[in-house]
Amino acid sequence: MYKVKEIYYTLQGEGFHQGRAAVFCRFAGCNLWSGIEKDRENAICKFCDTDFWGMDGENGGSYNKEDLYKKIKSLVPKQSDQHIFLVMTGGEPALQVDDELVTYLKSNGVEIAIETNGTLPLPQGIDWITVSPKANTKLIITKGNELKLVFPQEENNPTQFESFDFTHFYLQPLDNDHRLENHDLCIQYILSNPQWKLSIQSHKILGIR
Ligand code: SF4
Repeated sequence: MYKVKEIYYTLQGEGFHQGRAAVFCRFAGCNLWSGIEKDRENAICKFCDTDFWGMDGENGGSYNKEDLYKKIKSLVPKQSDQHIFLVMTGGEPALQVDDELVTYLKSNGVEIAIETNGTLPLPQGIDWITVSPKANTKLIITKGNELKLVFPQEENNPTQFESFDFTHFYLQPLDNDHRLENHDLCIQYILSNPQWKLSIQSHKILGIR
């Protein structure tokens, strides 16, 4: 059974597929933080802004692969049933997503994207791999479609990743009290290093999920 925090239909807000309608399936749990506030100080990943703990969100619960597909399918309009774009996110989806689930969803025509911190192996067959490296971790997924780095991060310099095998390299401004300053830092870095592109969290600007 797959433990899922929430499943909802919205627009992808970030990266290459920004603006595209997608079902988001947020898997519960992460290997870099428990998700409980009192543990944040000792977590490997300290600036997480996602609630991935438990299964109490919209459409959250424990699913087998068949019921998970049925739920995903039920959220998209009928006319788009032929092509479902699914974003597997978390938490860290690689803790749970396996070959069996990927094979089953793909056999039902689902296009699968995954957003991962890149520290765990991934099953074969995923259509779009987004890796968001976190400080103080060892990336084992060094190949994929997009690498999305929150910037600036003291311990994660973009140059560490430039030789990896990704089609797109994105910097995404760190969303903290210095947001405007972080936007400027991203823009300046990209102007000097045009291998990188800007990813804005448009869902936050638009007020959607
Ligand atoms: S890896 Fe992602 S989900 Fe896990 S704690 Fe860090 S930001 Fe949150």
